[in-house]
Amino acid sequence: MKDLPATVHILGRQPSLLNPILAEIRDREVQQDRLRFRRNLERCGEIFAYEISRVLPYVEREVRTPLGAAIVPVLAEQPVIASILRAALPLHQGMLNFFDQAENTFISAYRKHEGDADHFEVEIEYLSSPPLEGRTVILCDPMLATGSSMVLAWQALLKRGRPARLHVVAVIASEQGLRFALEKLPDDVTLWLGAVDPELTPRAYIVPGLGDAGDLAFGAKE
Ligand code: URA
Repeated sequence: MKDLPATVHILGRQPSLLNPILAEIRDREVQQDRLRFRRNLERCGEIFAYEISRVLPYVEREVRTPLGAAIVPVLAEQPVIASILRAALPLHQGMLNFFDQAENTFISAYRKHEGDADHFEVEIEYLSSPPLEGRTVILCDPMLATGSSMVLAWQALLKRGRPARLHVVAVIASEQGLRFALEKLPDDVTLWLGAVDPELTPRAYIVPGLGDAGDLAFGAKE
């Protein structure tokens, strides 16, 4: 994909330790180990958290050491990590491993099929969140397929106030989902993606993608 705004960061395009993790997450043999799959998503969350931490505001704080005083930059405010249930839970844990004092929002989004397997509506049913007015929100979902869950989740979050800044994290996006997100999310959104894949199946799975992230992490559901 060309002509992306500078606020779209596709981390897998640079050489880094994220790439072997993405390779394992996509690999159908390695995926058989559910613990490893979850842990790899968690490691992605840690890497995204570190990258996002580099663009957040800091204030200087004096810390007393046994030998004197050191001035260190610390986060000016704690972000709110908002995750879409259930697939984002391992990614959420990875973000929390680094943003260890963050606040947390959980939101459910599921694909409701009415008979036809290729057609579904995304339904948002559950939202647990602190007030979001003026906050920095990091909205996480491992897969940005059509982009509808991400956009509906963002619209649901607005019921708790308008955040000052929005960062969106996805391990794998489709080109279509990325375009939709850029169109529907606020103009100043920053996106942090592991990879952007070219296609979607008729059932809106990303190709080559990795399969169903929720099922691979937690088992098949009805
Ligand atoms: N959700 C997934 O888990 N995988 C996809 O490819 C698309 C949506």
